[in-house]
Amino acid sequence: MALLQISEPGQSAAPHQHRLAVGIDLGTTNSLVATVRSGSPAVLADENGEPVVPSVVHYGSDASVSVGAKAAALAIVDPLNCISSVKRLMGKSLQETRELTGLVNTLSDSTDESGEMQVPRIVTAGGNVTAVEVSSRILEALKLRAEEALGGELVGAVVTVPAYFDDAQRQATKDSARMAGLHVLRLLNEPTAAAIAYGLDRQMEAEGSIVAIYDLGGGTFDVSLLRMNRGVFEVLATAGDTALGGDDIDREIVDWICSNGEIAASDPSTMRRLLEAAKSAKEQLSSAQTAAIKLNLNDEKTIELELNRTDFEQMIEPLIKRTLAPCRRVLRDAGVDKSEVTAVVMVGGSTRVPLVRQQTGEFFQRDVLTDINPDEVVAIGAAIQADILAGNKPDSDMLLLDVIPLSLGIETMGGLAEKVIQRNTTIPIARAQEFTTYKDGQTAMALHVVQGEREMVSDCRSLARFELRDIPPMVAGKARIQVVFQVDADGLLTVSAIERESGVVASIDVKPSYGLSDNEIETMLRDSMENASDDMQSRKLAEQRVEAERVIEALDAAMQQDADEFLDADEKSQLLSLRSGLQDTIDSGSAAEIKNAVEMLEKGSSEYVERRMNASVRRMMAGQSVNEIEEKLAD
Ligand code: ADP
Ligand code: MG
Repeated sequence: MALLQISEPGQSAAPHQHRLAVGIDLGTTNSLVATVRSGSPAVLADENGEPVVPSVVHYGSDASVSVGAKAAALAIVDPLNCISSVKRLMGKSLQETRELTGLVNTLSDSTDESGEMQVPRIVTAGGNVTAVEVSSRILEALKLRAEEALGGELVGAVVTVPAYFDDAQRQATKDSARMAGLHVLRLLNEPTAAAIAYGLDRQMEAEGSIVAIYDLGGGTFDVSLLRMNRGVFEVLATAGDTALGGDDIDREIVDWICSNGEIAASDPSTMRRLLEAAKSAKEQLSSAQTAAIKLNLNDEKTIELELNRTDFEQMIEPLIKRTLAPCRRVLRDAGVDKSEVTAVVMVGGSTRVPLVRQQTGEFFQRDVLTDINPDEVVAIGAAIQADILAGNKPDSDMLLLDVIPLSLGIETMGGLAEKVIQRNTTIPIARAQEFTTYKDGQTAMALHVVQGEREMVSDCRSLARFELRDIPPMVAGKARIQVVFQVDADGLLTVSAIERESGVVASIDVKPSYGLSDNEIETMLRDSMENASDDMQSRKLAEQRVEAERVIEALDAAMQQDADEFLDADEKSQLLSLRSGLQDTIDSGSAAEIKNAVEMLEKGSSEYVERRMNASVRRMMAGQSVNEIEEKLAD
């Protein structure tokens, strides 16, 4: 058995010794830390009983750093040295960070000596800081809170991330935990954590069931569909709106206060106070029918207003309706009907607004789950998982801390290995990736499962081959084949493939690391490091070859159909000579030469392509009513 058992020195599970582990919800607006004590999970509050830590960090000119509520208070007087919503910057390049809207801080545009762009840094009075550093300050504060409350050092933490976070964003999150001195037991998807908090993974009928997680936070909205698959939650689809949340509700109320209190455009500090009053009114209206708004403005003017639930709901209804479009989208993307969803979990502080619950319930046509505090539910789920991973539940069937020793992937055109699950991923795990067909009318697909870190399949280890047959004939690139890699807690890999349009399925079970000794694994890893740069070259070359072959095949197919109709003899021979030029470079040329030849052929055939396209549009429109055409276009 080559699966590596993770056990740190001095940390083997001793019986009856409770190991301190926490779950952390590292949110855009708010962060929380939770743990399992005497068998039940709970969020850890500060000395005033406040469970939430605002995700805000302030850097003072005296090198002081404040985190949480203290930092949020400083935001009013010193906004430029206060960093909020740092989660949006995690794992982003300088370019991507510059393109983000709503960032009040200044970015440093320094380059290093080699002229390379550096990681984006935010300018503060306490020095320039990276997103990872800022985030690590928040984690540090949570760690401290936990260690004080629990009276000991933490073994580790499960930190949650949005399901849509990519590798760079996940890695950045891990880096910030390491910087905070936290051992990450696992990163967990936020929607999965919420589902675990409700115990949806442990229900009798869990296998195959589909749950929807609706998460409306301070500034973002996410909706995810999960399917329980052999003890693992598989993320079927995610959608959302990165600029929609409780902040927008606050702004609606501010507008209402301004027009009813006859206040004109105001300075930033008045604006802050208006926003605070709005937020407090909003929170009151989640439990009361009316909220009193009373505020003294700078010019000695006092405003006293009363906002009732009906007026409030009327003004925010359009915002809430906007969350339903992503809900429709996830269902469509996952190919799931509303009626198949067996539970809808409400997550995020803004789902405390009764109208949000009501509208979501109406949309999914079922009661939504709200028993667990929606702003704590993610941290609670993470805590439950952390408790298991720390080894406090030896009888749990999820306690395995195994990792995949070598990446698992699939062979794509050109003999390239596309990694689906990266090495060192903790199991159990399920990951899906979409592939498509290469040829027009292709009705079968050969799937080759490989293991290893190298770019070329020939340098990896072959694990299994199987075929997906009976794909309905479609044009190349139209079929959507979803390949799911799933490794259960015992390290057994199942690979399945499904063609989404037709629903055709095929699958195979594989023992991923069977027969590989630790030594072999080490050799394969060493090889991959030594050959990294060569591998990149061969990958580029292989990719160019595939591209070139595809272009040639497409041209051949087109010319066979209608060359005589759209090309005169000269044009035809010109195209054919470009074609043979490209054919020659495929075998002997470098990646750049092939690329060049592809471009020349594409340029040379653009006129022909256009003529064909125009003709096909004319054919499509001929004899059809406007309605029919609109329907086609909407498809
Ligand atoms: P995030 O996941 O973005 O960090 P949260 O889930 O903590 O954010 O949600 C924060 C939002 O929830 C804020 O806009 C806050 O005003 C809102 N909120 C918190 N409590 C309530 C409440 N009782 N009623 C309505 N909104 C609330
Ligand atoms: Mg959240």
